[in-house]
Amino acid sequence: MEFKKSQKLYNRGLENLVGAVNSPVRAFASVGGNPLFIKKAKGSKIVDVDGNRYVDLVLSYGPMILGHRHKKVQRAINKALKNGYSFGASTENEIKLAKIVCNAFPGMDKVRFVNSGTEAVLSGIRLARAFTGKDKIIKFSGCYHGHQDALLVAAGSGLATLSLPGSKGVPEGAVKNTLIATYNDLDSVKKHFEAHDDIAGVIIEPIGGNMGVVIPQNNFLKELKDFLESKGALLIADEVMTGFRSQFGGAQGLLEVEADITCLGKVIGGGFPVGAYGARNEIMEMVAPLGGMYQAGTLSGNPIAMAGGISTLTELKRQNPYELFDTIGEQIENILVEAAKKYGVDLTVNRFGSMLNPFFTSKQVTNFEEAQTSDTEKFGVFFWEMIKNGVFLPPSQFEAWFLSSAITEEDIEIIKKAVNSAMKAVSEN
Ligand SMILES: *Cc1c(COP(=O)(O)O)cnc(C)c1O
Repeated sequence: MEFKKSQKLYNRGLENLVGAVNSPVRAFASVGGNPLFIKKAKGSKIVDVDGNRYVDLVLSYGPMILGHRHKKVQRAINKALKNGYSFGASTENEIKLAKIVCNAFPGMDKVRFVNSGTEAVLSGIRLARAFTGKDKIIKFSGCYHGHQDALLVAAGSGLATLSLPGSKGVPEGAVKNTLIATYNDLDSVKKHFEAHDDIAGVIIEPIGGNMGVVIPQNNFLKELKDFLESKGALLIADEVMTGFRSQFGGAQGLLEVEADITCLGKVIGGGFPVGAYGARNEIMEMVAPLGGMYQAGTLSGNPIAMAGGISTLTELKRQNPYELFDTIGEQIENILVEAAKKYGVDLTVNRFGSMLNPFFTSKQVTNFEEAQTSDTEKFGVFFWEMIKNGVFLPPSQFEAWFLSSAITEEDIEIIKKAVNSAMKAVSEN
């Protein structure tokens, strides 16, 4: 397998782009080597500029849940393009997507569209503060909520890969109202409430996805929500990754917890830049123009992006691939576990439906600290062997792998061969 053209583009990219990437998670910092440049993708496959074909388990970090270039999505985009790209005024498609999203979340009466997950969360946090009149927010170590200043501490994958505790350029003042708790540990939340009386709420990924996949244990989320209710604080669910991926709606539904504020992104744009935050009327009425919390966006509700979202969610609902995701997810999980056993590699696989990933550790992984016991050097060896065998993975131990409904039996065979060969390489390293 050759990467000559990728290498060439990488060298060219270095001149005017930072590290030749527009998001640090795309750099191959923790696996060694240089990033691949992509030419095109279709269905479950992605093709790099050297013509190498891969089964795509990155899927743009989640959004491409139907696979790439689904016919119905492409048709909807083409149709929308004919009417113009942006108007700075309302369109019917915004109402349609809002209806689909609100219907899928029982606790959501109204939604506001923005352009990214980061924007969704920073607005959701502002809203929690506006509604409660309190300033402090609790976040969990290892959860990522976009790159806003206030939450860029102990923030999981991207930072962990680069071994950064937080980000430079974030003033102390910006994080002085951010409190850190431990995932799956309610006592670590309670302690903050004992020490502070101005906590607006807790933000959480209902399924952790940015420290690798980490699943809430026992009744963690439910107990968290009950506790917050008793304190008059809000539960903010960051479902940017899990929204419409774990079921048609949120992971909160599956876990029988209703968040006060929900933040969305990724799948709801079907590959276009869409984020959203929503809540019950009482809370959303704080947002301008109805209320005093300001939040705006020149390109928010962009008509092409809305068409991408509507067509993706409509097709997703029709396909209802969630049982299929579970079956295939389990197959891949078993492939990983069996290969690890065969080659004597310490491995823990965490999975929730179509989100999964292996940790190269013998430990159970239920929080960020445990995730970090994973041997990232082994992951680097594993990663490149998967690439060479035709499987495109996120270039970090701490990112989830995703499935699309376009995945085929043949793809699973490719994955199986690749995993066996990669696990062998890990054992020999
Ligand atoms: C991806 C992600 C974000 C940030 O979304 P962007 O669109 O990259 O800004 C926020 N929260 C979670 C849970 C995410 O997975």
